[in-house]
Amino acid sequence: MRLLVVEDDKDLNRQIVAALEGAGYAVDRAHDGEEGQFLGETEPYDAAILDMGLPVRDGAAVLQAWRAAGRTMPVLILTARDRWSDKVQAFDAGADDYVTKPFHMEEVLARVRALLRRAAGHATSELVCGPLRLDTRTGRLTVDGNPVRLTSHEYRLIAYLMHHAGRVISRTEIVEHLYEQDFDRDSNTIEVFVGRLRKKLGVDVIHTVRGLGYILEAPAPKAG
Ligand code: CA
Repeated sequence: MRLLVVEDDKDLNRQIVAALEGAGYAVDRAHDGEEGQFLGETEPYDAAILDMGLPVRDGAAVLQAWRAAGRTMPVLILTARDRWSDKVQAFDAGADDYVTKPFHMEEVLARVRALLRRAAGHATSELVCGPLRLDTRTGRLTVDGNPVRLTSHEYRLIAYLMHHAGRVISRTEIVEHLYEQDFDRDSNTIEVFVGRLRKKLGVDVIHTVRGLGYILEAPAPKAG
């Protein structure tokens, strides 16, 4: 899952990015409304965290521009202002949720998890797909009840596939949603990477769809 953080307070920006990266997300950052608007319009984020009070262009204008451009990713608003009218303005501009500053980072992480799973149509923070069980709160993956140790990139891949189980995911989509903007992206390495993850899981759940990409599908339950 790839996220965008738009926050002009440098320390706070760094803290949020560090917390999100620690939770296993790929994160891009912007420090003003113009840069944030550009990234949100051009890069395919799974969710964005957007401060309302930003230099150059305020958060409400950025959000309106994203929505006008057809960007539908969930957006969590950060607001220092505890006035109800600011929240109404943010929701009318297309916000999905908000946090009032100062906040606990755990609350931001929990709200981001909720936005991501709701956007993907999941009701709970535990995703189940055949023998795979992923607790998105702890980042713990089990296969038939046995924990599997994953690298951060392997975690990002399986989490993305599990959030979107049943849908064909192209190599380009994987590259776009697993890596930060500055990362040296090469979709050819994805095949090797998927191969390694399959071996680690030890169960045949990631299927290749020739020419299109991959699909994570729970095997049909055996009759009898
Ligand atoms: Ca601000």
